[in-house]
Amino acid sequence: MTGRDHRDLGGPTEKCGVVGVSLDERAAARPLYYALYALQHRGQESAGIVTHDGFQQHSHVEMGLVGDAFGEDDLDQLNGPVGIGHVRYPTAGSVNACCAQPFSVSFKSGSLGLSHNGNLVNADEIRDELAGLGHAFTSDGDTEVIAHDLARNLLEEDLVRAVKRTMSRIHGSYSLTIMHDDTVLGVRDPEGNRPLCIGEVDDGYLLASESAAIDVLDGELVRDVEPGELVILRPDGEGFDAYQLFDRENSAHCFFEHVYFARPDSTIDDQLVYDVRRDLGRALWAESGVDTDVVMPVPDSGRAFASGYADAAGEDGADVEFAEGLMKNRYVGRTFIMPTQDARERAVRLKLNPIKDIVQDRTVTLIDDSIVRGTTSTQLVQLMRDVGAEAVHVRIGAPPIVAPCYMGIDMASREELIAADRTTEEIGEEISADSLEYLSIESVAGALDQSRADLCLGCVTGEYPYDIDGETTDRDVERPTIGSEPAAADD
Ligand code: 5GP
Ligand code: MG
Repeated sequence: MTGRDHRDLGGPTEKCGVVGVSLDERAAARPLYYALYALQHRGQESAGIVTHDGFQQHSHVEMGLVGDAFGEDDLDQLNGPVGIGHVRYPTAGSVNACCAQPFSVSFKSGSLGLSHNGNLVNADEIRDELAGLGHAFTSDGDTEVIAHDLARNLLEEDLVRAVKRTMSRIHGSYSLTIMHDDTVLGVRDPEGNRPLCIGEVDDGYLLASESAAIDVLDGELVRDVEPGELVILRPDGEGFDAYQLFDRENSAHCFFEHVYFARPDSTIDDQLVYDVRRDLGRALWAESGVDTDVVMPVPDSGRAFASGYADAAGEDGADVEFAEGLMKNRYVGRTFIMPTQDARERAVRLKLNPIKDIVQDRTVTLIDDSIVRGTTSTQLVQLMRDVGAEAVHVRIGAPPIVAPCYMGIDMASREELIAADRTTEEIGEEISADSLEYLSIESVAGALDQSRADLCLGCVTGEYPYDIDGETTDRDVERPTIGSEPAAADD
């Protein structure tokens, strides 16, 4: 449905970072805290940790950055060798204390803590059903819906079966770390939309959205959690048990994790994000390279793309210089989520300053990962001209973003997306570039070494891997529909 704001759909959209650890004797709080630091780019609105000491849960959840949310005292009172953590991504204009995570509840057969990255598309139906059965909800978030559904199933089933039953009911994207009493587990939705991986440290195991969180704990990446897989960390850091609960023909990995969201030093679904971005940059040169004096990344998001692009250009014999001609003030907050257009424009100017000597009287190719509203590129093209660029070309390492994301990235609504109703040529004119080119979907799939059918490309095709009210599904790909029992693997 054109013009619908995706935030209407099933509560706040969440693009977050999750972690869970099970250690031998050491308290889990500090490792969780450091892991959350490594995942800070995945969410800056709130941070939280819930641990379990064998008798009870301890929880500390606060608004703000990880470094501000926890003091020494807070970490000291988070007792126990197991725990989960969460950083939450902010959505434009909303600062929502009720939705900070991990979410925790106590119920008849124990305690539950839940950290969720992703977004369910049928949370409202399940909430209504459970509310009718007497469950009381404190938020309109979808994470609480998962917690209540799981709590209910745990009254009748063992852990594995209860998780499986909940997974067969919820539809959408989710990577979860869960703590049931003092057992930590991780679940990735059957399409594997959001990342989740398993790591090993000296005295235990962990689950995290990105492998960079394992690195900071001096751990080793064991592997990704598979789509549809449940991983249960054993107590005392003794290893883990894995259960492939659902098997799907196709996955729906979010390509935008690789393009923008994840850290370049993380490995996701077996691929180093930095390498993927460099390959995307190389493909961009192959598709639409333009000979200019200077190739310049938009920091930080365009860096790896620009270096791949410049390398490929050099190999082709083009006489281009790679230069960091835009300097970033790292103390300016995120421009993307500022509430008004005026504030966003001012913030881009504060954040990025050109080095005049690199630009003056020269032709420049600016490289970035994506254009969303067009604010950044419009401002930067103008800045380049202001300091004397002869020509400014823009190359983007992803296809045009034409539709919102319902799966957890705050992509703005269709009205705000510059590419929703414009051709590439029109966008080029709009941002006043001498030329503008995006990367094709085929090249994205190529750089990710995945078939198109295994990617979620909803924001660049307008066709989604999940049933979303008023939107088209990517039906040439075999996907189960809401309410159909997903193909279950053998128990
Ligand atoms: P625009 O200025 O066109 O609205 O947004 C494009 C810029 O925002 C690019 O530099 C890109 O790196 C960044 N960007 C793209 N998607 C997101 C997102 O989901 N969140 C944030 N914070 N930035 C984004
Ligand atoms: Mg950027």
